[in-house]
Amino acid sequence: MKKKIKYNRVLLKISGEFLKGNEECSINIIFIEKLIIQIKKLLSLGVQIGLVIGGGNLFRGSDLEKIGMRRTISDQIGMLSTVINGLSIYELMYKNNINTRIFSSSNLEGVCERYRLDEVNKALDDGYVVIFCFGLGVPFFTTDSAACIYGIEIKADIFLKGTKVNGVYSSDPFINPLATLYKKLKYKEVLQKKIKIMDDTSLILAQEHKLPIIVFNMYNPIILYDLIIGKEGIGTLISV
Ligand code: UDP
Repeated sequence: MKKKIKYNRVLLKISGEFLKGNEECSINIIFIEKLIIQIKKLLSLGVQIGLVIGGGNLFRGSDLEKIGMRRTISDQIGMLSTVINGLSIYELMYKNNINTRIFSSSNLEGVCERYRLDEVNKALDDGYVVIFCFGLGVPFFTTDSAACIYGIEIKADIFLKGTKVNGVYSSDPFINPLATLYKKLKYKEVLQKKIKIMDDTSLILAQEHKLPIIVFNMYNPIILYDLIIGKEGIGTLISV
């Protein structure tokens, strides 16, 4: 019997740090392939999947600004990094026979399709995985903001935000072994406690549009299935 799924349309944010490769290859193929196995499993259950791709493994605007580049150009370089990552994932999806379409917020003719909500909704309804890259196409934003905005636009049931740890902790678990994992948090608690899980702009957007967020351990993508079927006790749910 098929498991009942809780979240039918999901927006998964893949941060650049998980895509960081090594000297042999700049992209972490092993991580992407592990993720693809899980994506295949979710697709077989009928889950619709949007992926917002980060670029921090290659370039972040704020880092380039520190070495003297103008911020707008730095951020454009950052956004182009998300395209490089997005295309890498797109190609590996293709090799794994997963129907995928890659959209960009700006015109990158011949490389990505131009983002259009109706086209993205159709692609998701038709069972394609949708990759969103080039962030929002404007400087001074992050791919977390892009994930929130696209999540809201496509009416995702959940925004899945992967991190290096199991969710949101009372303090940094790498520094404080006694740090406790929050099972649930309200948006306003995250903002008040100044928990740095994503930038405030993104959180406020999610709060205003009631887009629930689950923070989970991205190094263990196998749990994506448990999250989708609504298994309790995994990660941290941030909601109203
Ligand atoms: N960026 C931007 N506007 C956007 C999204 C991203 O200017 O709407 C730039 C920004 O410079 C950022 C870089 O793209 O540092 C990479 O995105 P991000 O830092 O969010 O990637 P992640 O940390 O998730 O890997």
